Amino acid sequence: MTSNPYREDDFGRASEYMRLALALLGKYKIPPTPFNYRIGYEYVAGNNPPLKQSFDQLSEQAEGFSAEALLEMYHQYVAEDERAFEKLRQELKSIILDVQSEFQNSGGNLSNYARTLSQFADILEAPTAPKVMSSEVQKVLSDTQSMRESQRQMESNMSQIMAEMGSLRKELEQVREDSLLDALTGISNRKAFDSGLETTISESREQGSVFCLLLIDIDHFKQFNDTHGHLVGDKVLRFVAATLKRCIKGKDLCARYGGEEFAIILPDTDLAGAHTIAEQIRVAISGRVLKDSASGQAYGRITVSIGAGQYCDGELPNDTIGRADQALYQAKARGRNRVVVAES
Ligand code: GH3
Ligand code: MG
Ligand code: MG
Repeated sequence: MTSNPYREDDFGRASEYMRLALALLGKYKIPPTPFNYRIGYEYVAGNNPPLKQSFDQLSEQAEGFSAEALLEMYHQYVAEDERAFEKLRQELKSIILDVQSEFQNSGGNLSNYARTLSQFADILEAPTAPKVMSSEVQKVLSDTQSMRESQRQMESNMSQIMAEMGSLRKELEQVREDSLLDALTGISNRKAFDSGLETTISESREQGSVFCLLLIDIDHFKQFNDTHGHLVGDKVLRFVAATLKRCIKGKDLCARYGGEEFAIILPDTDLAGAHTIAEQIRVAISGRVLKDSASGQAYGRITVSIGAGQYCDGELPNDTIGRADQALYQAKARGRNRVVVAES
């Protein structure tokens, strides 16, 4: 069997590393997949300096942690797959062994206690001298007391383990959710959109249903930023995101696709339906006079251009996106603040 490099990491230490590793991955929005988690664990455990150096270098680069860079780092600095999985397995095993030994301790105490009680019962069967009786009662009392203590200890150890596991699970879920949300607007990010699109395509194939895609781009947003500043621009992005969310329902998914561009997936919706929703969005956004809620200062209106496209059976996600993007381009070219629907 492969040797375990984490032998020295007991339950407390491994749990602490796990927490730190998740925090590290969360900070850089790296999804905590098994490979990435290993990178995080090695980093925080501090026993893999080349990996740490490479990680720190990547964190300073503009393009950051791409999936490819992380995978390469994993292969280069962690190990080949089997050995790595073996290590993960050992780590989990060590946690389980800790729990098991808790049970064994308590089980051992329990059988000793049962023996004491049964011996006492034997003594009660026959007439016994008061002095013997008294010392036997004392023994049972003290065994009962220590049994109670060890049960208490066991309970507190187990609830500590459960609390640790519970908070780790929550952190894991949080990191996972965070990695799918856009930090500025709180709606889904590009990654969530990409995976949502894949899912919608397979559902559409299975059920033979149609679906559409909207690409939404804020008009002359650079100019808006230049006039009112980036912070006001950020508020406008939040306003647009909130409006999109209000205009969709159920299984529809809206995401920030990039800078000032948004995308919406509309399952079970044909082009006519998509056109209607796009028009509602356009009107909802252009109809609102924007102003600062605190100072009351007016910023005027903003408008959006929208391209709509329907998924055609058998095509790739990029084909549908490309068609909606062409329509969006048309909407811009025809004067902005309008919806263009792509012919399928
Ligand atoms: P068009 O109507 O052709 O789309 O013009 P535009 O100015 O909206 O398009 P362009 O692509 O030239 O500029 C997009 C601008 O969006 C540039 C940038 O200032 C702004 N932008 C992108 N991301 C953000 C962001 O996160 N916050 C803010 N405030 N502005 C952003
Ligand atoms: Mg744009
Ligand atoms: Mg724009």
